[in-house]
Order: sequence, then C-alpha cells, then structure tokens
Amino acid sequence: MFSAALTRNVVILANDDTDMIEQTETTPMISERIIALACPEVRTWTLDCIYSDPAAAVEALAGLVDRLDAGPDRAAAQFAYGTALAVIGELRRAEDQLTSALDFYRAQGDELSAAHVLLRANLVWHQHGDAERALAHLATVVETARIHGDAWLESAALSDTALVQLRIGSMADGLANLFESLEIANNGTDSTLRAVIRLNLGFALYDLHDYDAAVAIVQEGLADPPSTRELPFLFDGHSLLGACLEQLGEHDRALECVRTARQIALELVYPYGHAEAAYDEGRLFYRLGQLEEARAAFQRSIEGYTTLDSPNRDAGLVVSTWWLELIDQRFTQETLDRLVFVSNTMPTAAYSRTFDLHDAIAQSAEALGNADLAIVHLRESRRLAETYWRELGDRQTRVAHRRFQLETAQQAAEQERTLRQQLAVALGESEELNRSNQALLKQLHAQSARLERQAIEDPLTRIGNRRHFIRQVQIETARCRENDHPVTIAFADIDDFKEVNDAHSHRAGDTVLHDVARLMAANIREIDTVARYGGEEFAFILPEANEAVATHQLEQVRSAVERNPWQIGGRNLHVTISIGVVRLDPSTSMDEMVTRADELLYLAKRSGKNQIQFRDFTTPNRAATA
Ligand code: GH3
Ligand code: MG
Ligand code: MG
Repeated sequence: MFSAALTRNVVILANDDTDMIEQTETTPMISERIIALACPEVRTWTLDCIYSDPAAAVEALAGLVDRLDAGPDRAAAQFAYGTALAVIGELRRAEDQLTSALDFYRAQGDELSAAHVLLRANLVWHQHGDAERALAHLATVVETARIHGDAWLESAALSDTALVQLRIGSMADGLANLFESLEIANNGTDSTLRAVIRLNLGFALYDLHDYDAAVAIVQEGLADPPSTRELPFLFDGHSLLGACLEQLGEHDRALECVRTARQIALELVYPYGHAEAAYDEGRLFYRLGQLEEARAAFQRSIEGYTTLDSPNRDAGLVVSTWWLELIDQRFTQETLDRLVFVSNTMPTAAYSRTFDLHDAIAQSAEALGNADLAIVHLRESRRLAETYWRELGDRQTRVAHRRFQLETAQQAAEQERTLRQQLAVALGESEELNRSNQALLKQLHAQSARLERQAIEDPLTRIGNRRHFIRQVQIETARCRENDHPVTIAFADIDDFKEVNDAHSHRAGDTVLHDVARLMAANIREIDTVARYGGEEFAFILPEANEAVATHQLEQVRSAVERNPWQIGGRNLHVTISIGVVRLDPSTSMDEMVTRADELLYLAKRSGKNQIQFRDFTTPNRAATA
C-alpha cells in the first residue's frame, strides 16, 4: 500500500548497453524500460517499474554503474542506482551511491542536479526521523528549485516536506504543502508525481479521519491515472480507497476496491499484494455475512501466503487459517496453541499480519476462558500495530498513521478493560484490578487529552477555534517583533444574534453562524486568519495591514454578511456584524490585545452596530515608520 511514494522520475543519461538487456530478459516490464534507458533519445527512465521487480533493476543498474567511467553519465546512473537501492531498503548502499552522485554535481557547481539528488538522499538519510535536518535540506531544495524555475523539483520537494511535517504532527502545514505541491504538479507533465501527491493526500486525510475527503481525492487520482504502466498506483489507490470505505462502514464498496486491488496485484505479479488483498477481502466478506465467499477468500490468501518468502508468511498463513476456523466456529485449544507457537517464533519486527496474529490469540484465548493470555496478546497486538505503522512510515517516508495507532491503542485499552473486569469478577480480585483499571482509565484520558490538544478547528464553523487564534497571534506577534512591525487584529460579533435564536431556532442560529464564518473566510486575504473566538464572536489577524488595508478588508467582510440573501425556512433574515480593529505594538501582551480589540468592538456596538471601528494604539514613532 505504501511503495508508490518512492517512485519518482529519474532523468538518466545512459550509454548503449546491450549486456544489460540480456541480463534482464526475464522481467519484461523492466527490460522494456532498460531498452528505453539504453536508447540515447530516451533519457527519462521512470522508476515505477522497479516496483514489480526491484532486485532485477538493482542488478541491471549495478552493472551499468560498474561499466561507466567517472563523469556525468556515471553520476546519473548512480543517482538511479541509489534510488533503486533505497526502494529495496538497501539504505547504506543507497547512501553511498547518492552521496557520490551528489559530490560529483557539487564539484561541477551543478546546483540544480545536486538538489535533485539531495531530494532523494534526504529520504535515505532521514529514514529514522531526524525531522529537523530533513526539513532544512528540503527547504534548500525548494529554494534551489524556485531559483532555477524547476517546477517539478519544487513540487516534489514540497510534497516530501509535507510528509515530514505530517510525520511530526504538523498536520495543517503538511496538508497545505501537499495541496500547494499538487497545484504545481497539476500544471506540469509528470502525472506520476501528481499521483504520488494525491495518494499522500489520501493517506493524510485518512489519518485525519476525513474519510470522505480521502475518498474524493483518491477517486480523483484513480480517474486520472498516470498511464497503464503505473499499476502500482492503481493498487495503492484501490487499497487505500478500500480502507477508507471500510472506515465509512461501506463494506460493499470497500470490497469492490480490494477486489480490484487484488486483480491489479495479479496483473503486476505482486504476490505480496495479492495475498494481503485476498485477506482483506475475506475480512470484508465476513463483515458482510457472506461466509462462503469469506471462506474462499481466506483460502486464496492462504495460497498466496504459502508462496511468499517473507516473515509475514507464517503469520499470514496461521491467521488466515484461524479465520477459516472462526467462520466454521471450530477453533480449539489446538488452534490457540498453533497461533501462540507462530507468535513465539516470529521475528520481533512488526509485519502487517503479526498484530492480527496477536488479536486472533487474544480473541481465541478470551473465548476459551484464558483471560490472562488474552491480555498479554492484546498488549502485544497494540504494541506491534503501533510499531508497524511507524516503521512503515519511516521506511518509506510515509504519512505516519497516528490515527490508526491511537484508535488501535484505544480499542485495545478498552477491550483490555472489559477483559480485566470479567477477570475481576471471576477471580474476586476486584480491588487490585480496580487499581489497574484506574491506571488504564488514566491512560485513556491522557490519550483523549492529546487528541483534544490536536483539535484546533471549530467543529460547527470549520474555521479555527480560539486555541488556534491564540497560537496564531503568538506566531504573528513574534514575527512582527522581529521585523519591528505593528500587529493588527480585529474582533467581530454578530448583531442581535439572540433574536435569531429566539425568533427561529437554535439550529437556525447554528446555520447562520456557519454561514457567517464561511463569508468571513471567503472575504479575507490569503495571509489573514479568521477564527471563532467563542459563541458568536470571531477574531481576525491581518498581517502587515495598516488602517486603510485593514478597514478595506473588513469592510468587505461586513458588507458580504449584510448583503448575503439570508433565509431561514422561507423567511428572510437580516444579519449584520460589528467589528473592532486595533493596531498594536508587538510588545503588547495577549490579554491587552484582546481587551483593546474588545473595547473597539463594543464601541462599534454602542455607535449603532453594523459598522467597523478602528484605533491605532502603536507608539507614534513606530506608527510613522511602518
Ligand atoms: P449584540 O448585538 O449586542 O451582540 O446582541 P446579541 O444578542 O448578539 O448578543 P448576546 O451576547 O446577548 O447574545 C449572544 C447569543 O448568541 C446568546 C447565545 O445563545 C447565542 N449563541 C452563542 N453561541 C451559540 C451557538 O453556538 N449557537 C447558537 N445557535 N447560538 C449561540
Ligand atoms: Mg452578538
Ligand atoms: Mg456576543
């Protein structure tokens, strides 16, 4: 599901090299690309084919690098070779090749090529999450791309920047950069890059629980696939679409998607994907109560896992078998023993089926009355699920699935609590267990507190909330202090809003609030911020706005609200807002800023509402300079 993000176009200059074609005769898709590579007119080799047989690509490129003398061709080949090595996870060797290409371009003073290599090397260097350095490198790449007008590089670097930001939890910045990079890519010719960005947007939105939006963007991507060659994207896209639809409870449509993914995996000769998709199909059929089909799907996943040479193989096999037994309601102590045996002999790293394995153990142990064992494996399942998503994310610089981690952790903690309660009743150890329940509860509370901290959006109006506003004012104030510029903020309040609630309904009031927020957001500049400060009060930040700019902009807002054809249940409505605007020294405290803006808002109210009041509180010398 994740590999496509590593695929990027690589421009490579290649010599005629017939040996290489012979070497890779066995893998048609790759050899076709290698022929293209060997043909002097075709200098663009897309790495997507590496997906289906990375080992063969690595071998071919190793040969090419060996045979070339130092020079631009060799550097280009090393660039491609390093990338291919990164795809198969040979990070040390990848680093050697990429560093050598980077050194070559730097020595030549070829900044732009160096930036292209740096973009790729960055993926390798910061696999394990030195986010700060990764962001610094990427900022350099973006800057170089902009200087040289290389839109592709700019877009790709912005997209990678976004992935790092998403990984460290800067969701808003990450999403903004993804959207920006998509916009740039939309004007370019690299449909593969577009597909990567859309897929990443899909993952990010999935991560943010916004499954509807994720579905929309992934569908857009699937409707505009790069080319028939880019089957990996179709596989990833359909898998992700399936996962989103499953979250939305649309099991039928989810099933359709994983079926398509499985067919693509067949076409790609991608046995791993085929086994995994078959397994997903089985689970969905089971959810839909189609047991016969579920059985057939799990039988297919068993066949698939049997052929794999991966540590996931044994777990996949034993868990698929367990599902078959679950369907027939015939799992026994022997089943449980077999699951436990495989779990004990699995490598400690996490694979997609290992946490399913521990889940299966927990579920069977619970059913067979062994609550202790169930708890141990629930814990292990939770730990592995977290590790799995994190490692997968790190390995391929993908969106970290914190959503999944949190949800898995919460579900596991909840199940664990239920189990503990049952155990308490059974063993009469209620007091001791009560204490650990308390600890678990505390843990759950801490988790939800974390979630809450992340929430900076007002759910009714979908604009920022007070927390967001305060954070943005702090950032803006710091920025203004640095530049010795004044800060301009405004407060707005809906006039006689109580009457809307009273005359219509609270729900009608909510609709008005929502629409007022929408009008506000639509009528400010891109650099401005609007947030719902509370109730029917809104707050604005207007960077670099003097009196003329601020009042002009807020007049747009005020008149947009007044002119909007308000209607509730067929009845016309008159909605207006009052606004207080202040310009302040950046040394002013947050409290004073708010107080001043509030004062001006109330001046607007006292002076007859539906108007703007402005006052400059800056010290005269500053006001004169800025
Ligand atoms: P003024 O012009 O002086 O601002 O008068 P007002 O009625 O707008 O101001 P007041 O502060 O008296 O009333 C604000 C009302 O806003 C009261 C409260 O019920 C309503 N309100 C606050 N939050 C919400 C909300 O989320 N939804 C709805 N429907 N009403 C809200
Ligand atoms: Mg009001
Ligand atoms: Mg009010």
